Amino acid sequence: MKKWFAVIGDPISHSKSPAMHNAWYTEMDVDATYIPIRVEPANLRKAVASLKLLGASGWNVTIPHKEAIIPLLDELDEQAAKMGAVNTVVKMADGKYKGYNTDGAGFVRSLEDAVGTVHRDKPILLIGAGGAARGIAFALLAGGYRNITIANRTVMKAEAICEELGTGQAVSLVEAENKLNQFAIFIQTTPAGMANGTLNLPFSLEKFPQDAIAADIVYNPLMTPFLQAAEEKGATIINGLGMFVHQGAIAYNYWLGHYPNTSNTIIELTAQLK
Ligand code: NAP
Repeated sequence: MKKWFAVIGDPISHSKSPAMHNAWYTEMDVDATYIPIRVEPANLRKAVASLKLLGASGWNVTIPHKEAIIPLLDELDEQAAKMGAVNTVVKMADGKYKGYNTDGAGFVRSLEDAVGTVHRDKPILLIGAGGAARGIAFALLAGGYRNITIANRTVMKAEAICEELGTGQAVSLVEAENKLNQFAIFIQTTPAGMANGTLNLPFSLEKFPQDAIAADIVYNPLMTPFLQAAEEKGATIINGLGMFVHQGAIAYNYWLGHYPNTSNTIIELTAQLK
């Protein structure tokens, strides 16, 4: 029987997920389709009940529903429970719907695609403590990265993540700015630099070290002000597209039991976003 998948969010028309997943089904000869569905927050409960009733094979969840969907699901993966957010729902063999989070693991894959696995002991500065940073922090820890500092405007939110991680340090943006040269890997997770956004980078890169690794999870534009400044300091830079493609590929694997070819997708989406 033909499988069908969806992405729910609000707004949703900008989402690149339907084109990406449908292209994978064609390429991998999978009889499935993937549709975008705009769901306003007030309608989330009804929308989830409808998706279940209509027998969706699974769906992705994007802003603003990643936290609110949790109590509406039948089961929750342990990592997603720790992250407090779900971006992928899977219909299990018994018909129950289980929530997972593939965002953080998608980031770790994109990092390791770019620079391999030899940097796991290096000191990491995670900038931001929102939903994406939380997922990345848990995925880094699960991936063997143990030296994590989280800098955030609201330090309490960084402290809360460190407490839940059971490791890591929380610092203010000013503290981070003053000791930037103590880190080797930088992961920028605030919306600074997003196309049409007005937010400037919330800290100065004056003390940015030589030969660092700098990742930004914003992918539109591909080259953010943070990546541009880091590249000028000689850093290896990683844009947010790899995270997006890999979170989709991990979801695809939960649903269909095999991985799609991600390298072609990254090349195609890079060409579209340039
Ligand atoms: P979020 O939960 O709203 O968190 C936003 C973070 O940015 C918080 O740490 C917030 O600090 C900080 N921030 C916002 N405005 C700031 C300012 N003026 N000065 C300093 N810090 C500020 O958002 P999110 O879900 O984590 O998403 C963050 C970004 O990641 C978005 O641009 C999103 O598009 C992108 N993203 C990309 C992918 C991908 O696949 N590449 C996946 C998920 C998200 P406070 O805690 O102090 O408010």
